Amino acid sequence: MSKVRVRFAPSPTGPLHLGGARTALYDYLFAKKNDGDFVLRIEDTDTARYVEGAEEYIMDALEWAGITPDESPRHGGNFGPYRQSERRHIYDRYTEEILKTDHAYLAFDTTEELDEVRRQYEEKGEVFSYNYISRNKLKNSLSLSAGEVQKYLDENIPYVVRFRMPVDRILNLEDTIRGKFSVNTNTLDDKVLVKNDGMPTYHLANIIDDHEMEITHVIRGEEWLPSLGLHVLLYEAMGWKSPEFAHLPLILKPEGKGKLSKRDGAKFGFPVFPMNFTDPETKEVYPGYKEHGYLPEAFVNFLALLGWSPAHDREILSLEEMAEEFDLHKVHKAGARFSKEKADWFNHQYLQKKNDDEVLEMLNEMEPVRMSGIAEDKLLKIVSLMKERATFVKDVYDNGKFFFEAPESFDEKALKKAWNEDTAEILKEFAEKLDASAFESLLLKQAIHDFADGKSLGMGKVMMPLRLALVGELKGPDVPDILEILGYEESKSRILNAVNNIR
Ligand code: GLU
Repeated sequence: MSKVRVRFAPSPTGPLHLGGARTALYDYLFAKKNDGDFVLRIEDTDTARYVEGAEEYIMDALEWAGITPDESPRHGGNFGPYRQSERRHIYDRYTEEILKTDHAYLAFDTTEELDEVRRQYEEKGEVFSYNYISRNKLKNSLSLSAGEVQKYLDENIPYVVRFRMPVDRILNLEDTIRGKFSVNTNTLDDKVLVKNDGMPTYHLANIIDDHEMEITHVIRGEEWLPSLGLHVLLYEAMGWKSPEFAHLPLILKPEGKGKLSKRDGAKFGFPVFPMNFTDPETKEVYPGYKEHGYLPEAFVNFLALLGWSPAHDREILSLEEMAEEFDLHKVHKAGARFSKEKADWFNHQYLQKKNDDEVLEMLNEMEPVRMSGIAEDKLLKIVSLMKERATFVKDVYDNGKFFFEAPESFDEKALKKAWNEDTAEILKEFAEKLDASAFESLLLKQAIHDFADGKSLGMGKVMMPLRLALVGELKGPDVPDILEILGYEESKSRILNAVNNIR
């Protein structure tokens, strides 16, 4: 059997969204599972829809996620160039070839003429299709005489190349995920293969490249399923063996209805793109998973499970483990519903797997100013205390702000609960008894117990107001841990500040 070769073939018409990233991921997993190659090909023949920076973005996003191509415009390879705009000479060669067969013809109709025909059909309540019926009445090399065609060519009248769809043929198609189905060619139109500027359309360039690049499996979004009949016929027309096809289900909005769109990010409060993308024209910034604080490991893990279930309900899998397990036959037919809660859950899980040094390093990159000036051993203790409650690295800082700054105010509700007339007196006495030489969590815990016992007070009477004084609210890790990290001076100053200011 020939080597498995899979390609991801995005068009640089904007940033890669979640659906595109998942297609790339499944392409990658399938290639790795089968010891094959994963190819990135940029399909940039449609110059009108080209977006500045989109190609770079796609490559950067894949790199961030760890979905690294074996061959790409950036990585090179033996089947290049990997940008369609640089492959024109190859398409020209094959266009000539297909035009020698009965499978393609020249069409001279102008856009205005076709618009007019379309309008006439609409008037009759019909929908126009350039197909086996209408082509005989339109301006093309099937309806015109050889002399007329030559005349047009001599006059340099622009033309497109169209595929001549066979009449009344039942195509038996197969999709790895959806199984077998048939299509009658009469329902398909004569698609344009080459535009009047000589550039091939997606359909022609795509099958030529898949053939030339020896692609064995085409795994792509389900929006391309209606093109499958045409593609299979194009392979047949060229005398090539067609690859196997698998069309992936959509990623749906959180409520389960409709395709996730780029505007849904703002609407539902989660990113739809792997990384931030700035629209070069409007300068609008679309938020990304990376900048939102998701770890790439979590990103690829939750993405892979949007539409595929590994055996034994396993959820946490590394890229390598997913590649070992991946099975196209187990990809769901129905759309997968995106859930922000689930994505967050994955991030939390992966954050717990990081050791404290790694988390601190990431935190330092995000909050360099706030982190500076605090001893590393203290920072590591903060990380170790806050990590288990954190979804994102930044939560370590956000939920642990009190480690870095004394509270400026005290939460009203917490005050009612934790503070009464004798509290100030109790805390003042406790602060005075603090022993700077025994500022270690276990000893502090014992000290609080002994103090409360000595005064025949319930633990809550001491612990709660202490927490309030240190944190400003009734949140955070264990009080002795907080005391230890803040140290003798800072702890005492915060307690006395509360004693003096809370009335
Ligand atoms: N360029 C197409 C896209 O942007 C690729 C479709 C395919 O994979 O065949 O989706």
